[in-house]
Amino acid sequence: MTGPEHPHPEHLALADIRARIAQAARIARRAAADVTLVAVSKTHPAEAIAPLIAAGQTVFGENRVQEAQSKWAPLREQHPGVELHLVGQLQSNKAEDAVALFDCIHSLDRPSLLTALARAMDKTGRRVPLFVQVNIGAEDQKGGCAIADLPGLLAQARDADLPVTGLMCVPPAGIEAAPFFALLDKLATDHGLAGRSMGMSDDFETAIQLGATHVRVGSALFGARG
Ligand SMILES: *Cc1c(COP(=O)(O)O)cnc(C)c1O
Repeated sequence: MTGPEHPHPEHLALADIRARIAQAARIARRAAADVTLVAVSKTHPAEAIAPLIAAGQTVFGENRVQEAQSKWAPLREQHPGVELHLVGQLQSNKAEDAVALFDCIHSLDRPSLLTALARAMDKTGRRVPLFVQVNIGAEDQKGGCAIADLPGLLAQARDADLPVTGLMCVPPAGIEAAPFFALLDKLATDHGLAGRSMGMSDDFETAIQLGATHVRVGSALFGARG
């Protein structure tokens, strides 16, 4: 029921997104189970997250280490099965906190961060799957490794024995995303990587048709961020 006391029923939005993921997978002749929905809960309080957990959502994404630490400490105690993914830029000096907290990091994008993550994994004994974020539209202002630097970064990750499982991208805003998803898919294939973290609220169905294994959906689940 909608109303002033429950302005955005998250569990209904979740059912809708799951149905759309299933439909997009069906059209692409893929199994819906091969697409992980990462519910991006950044900026939203625990009270908005709890209904999704109750409705069976198990994978969540945050973009700030500190926000995630304070918000998720109590939630994870209550729900130990929940997985937390980092989808935002990571500073090297937060690598150890990130490795301790997150179950997957989608934003490895440079050699200095790779070194910091390798050290953090050695120190904590935790091996956290990593996606290399690619600056797929070659935008000056955007995070992500340049396509030309990708082979070198992947070689460095192999040398450090880091668990890189896939590639991630955020295509340029305001233009058709499909060519960029197709390019990320091709890069992942070329490098023998299974994971493709691509697609957000506005374009996750297109991303699924082009091979996404992880879609990162925020506003379509939680409403607009304040
Ligand atoms: C915020 C964010 C998302 C979710 O975006 P929506 O448009 O709200 O679905 C996905 N990926 C990254 C990297 C983000 O920062």
